Amino acid sequence: MSETGTSPEVLALRSLHAIITSVHEMEDLQGVLQTAAQGVVDVLGFEVAVIDCVDDHGYVEALAVAGDPDAVATMKSRRIPLIEILAEFDIAEPWGLLKFVPHDRLEADAETSWVPDIEPLDVPDAWHPLDALYAPLEGPTGELVGVLSVDVPVNRRRPGPLARQVLEMYAVQAGLAIHHAQERARLNERIRLGAAVRTILETASRELDLRTIIDDSFVPLADGFRCDRLLIRVLDQVDDQGRSGAGHAPGAGATYPPDLLDSMAPRLAELGERLSGVELLALGERIARECWARKTTCVVDELAVPPEDLVGPVDLALLRIMMTGLDATGVMLVPLGSGASCVGYLTLVRAAEGSAWTEAESDAALEVGREMGRVVHRTHLYQRERELVAELQELDRYKGEMIATITHELKNPLTAIRGYVELLSEQGVGGRGMEAIERNVTRLVNLTDDLLLLAKVSDPHRVLVSSPVPLGPLVEEVVDAVGVQAQRKGLRIDVARPERDLVVSGERDELARMMVNIVGNAVKYTPEGGSVTLCLEPVDGRAAFRCSDTGLGISADDLGRLFDEFDRSSNPDAQAQPGSGLGLAIVQRIVERHRAELVVDSELGTGSTFSVLLPLAP
Ligand code: ADP
Repeated sequence: MSETGTSPEVLALRSLHAIITSVHEMEDLQGVLQTAAQGVVDVLGFEVAVIDCVDDHGYVEALAVAGDPDAVATMKSRRIPLIEILAEFDIAEPWGLLKFVPHDRLEADAETSWVPDIEPLDVPDAWHPLDALYAPLEGPTGELVGVLSVDVPVNRRRPGPLARQVLEMYAVQAGLAIHHAQERARLNERIRLGAAVRTILETASRELDLRTIIDDSFVPLADGFRCDRLLIRVLDQVDDQGRSGAGHAPGAGATYPPDLLDSMAPRLAELGERLSGVELLALGERIARECWARKTTCVVDELAVPPEDLVGPVDLALLRIMMTGLDATGVMLVPLGSGASCVGYLTLVRAAEGSAWTEAESDAALEVGREMGRVVHRTHLYQRERELVAELQELDRYKGEMIATITHELKNPLTAIRGYVELLSEQGVGGRGMEAIERNVTRLVNLTDDLLLLAKVSDPHRVLVSSPVPLGPLVEEVVDAVGVQAQRKGLRIDVARPERDLVVSGERDELARMMVNIVGNAVKYTPEGGSVTLCLEPVDGRAAFRCSDTGLGISADDLGRLFDEFDRSSNPDAQAQPGSGLGLAIVQRIVERHRAELVVDSELGTGSTFSVLLPLAP
């Protein structure tokens, strides 16, 4: 390998350059560190190289150890506070960027991670087993990202100036490589978490059912947050009146795996601990509410415990018991919230060693919590809306029943009165008073008939008994029914019918009533000399019945309420005509029962067209 005239240091530098180049191309941080450490052992002439990385919690962890197998076994994954290393830097002899701690500067009782089993040479620059040489590894802006420590030079001597310079240069390159690898790892983490958050968001915006959303969130959560077990719980809602939960907005919960909570008890029993389900849920709820108030997550793992004002010592002890029950090395409790209220929580559980949560994960989890909180809130509103609709329907049904009952009660005395009025007029009793009684009794009878019919066609339990109904004869009947009144007003009634009659499917009496009400109105609300046109025609596989008049017309405002019960238009000319405002309400119910379609086209002062599109009989 050696070229004549080239010093070993220069050769080492070349090899290290090659290593650093390859390191910059590597994807995973662990691989970068191990390659870099191995490079020192292979090329720089040390028997041991350790690379410690600085974490967010003020510790350094030996993520890569190369060389002596005993050193590898002892040092790998060793974690110590960063300040311990910095303290050694303080007593070190600065060798340029390097820090050399000669054995005689160490305190007598100083703890050491690993001491090589070597005899120092009997020379002034001999390497002592307790000597330490560090190279701080820095990122591009000078921040400490790690520490490279080397031990046991192969020549058993303290490195000379050239060797130190090579080590320095290497450290600078390694620092940058580690920084880049860490950045890449952070970026990948953000991408992974972003994907998880997006998937949950998509599900949440697509689905309305909370249970489905919870079920569909497990996989993206477990993948995105790298957790082994999961617990989602929705808290019972307390409504405006302070009524809580049961009945109207019950809390829901789910775990992954589904038997997660059941498996806890035996595990805890084995260890002589116990934590009831109720205690567990209450604990989660307490912490979640506190977390949501501060918009933070609660993390307990090998590196972190929550601040005491977030989780007190008693609750922390309970959390630890829960973690034991779940076989967890780390948990992250994430509040689900919307506005000011905490509506649930999510507990992410990790079971493997060395799996502390990162800040990016906590941030992403909080975003998921916010999103799921919104969903929970939305489903609660949706549920409340459904309950309100059901209540209104029930009220409507009650109103219908009440009207029907009262109408029935009115019907009998009215029939008796009508009978006696007829009897009296047969006996020759007459005069204006009698006429007024007759007129008003007729109005009352019509009103009760309409009310009873409306109740009948509004009853969802009354099934439609359909049969084929030819429309031609029906239209003729209707023309006959309104003929007298039309004649009295001098109205022309035109009928346009196809040669082949249209046969629809429905209940004949109801269809006749629908037509009578529409055509009756046309006659009633068209002033003298006008005309009414009835038309039957097939339209797109349906039968269209149209009634057009040249009458008063209906304003846009009135059109909006046209089919409401008892509603009469605001037009004084229309109000001058007798009516109860029930005719079109009945029409609309009949149209709905026949799965038909009703279209009104009208303009005040011009006239109106009512069109009904009915399904043809098969
Ligand atoms: P009413 O017993 O008042 O006729 P309806 O329910 O049949 O009750 O009609 C509601 C209102 O719609 C009427 O009061 C009337 O103002 C208006 N209306 C219905 N049909 C017509 C029409 N063909 N032309 C003008 N106005 C109409």
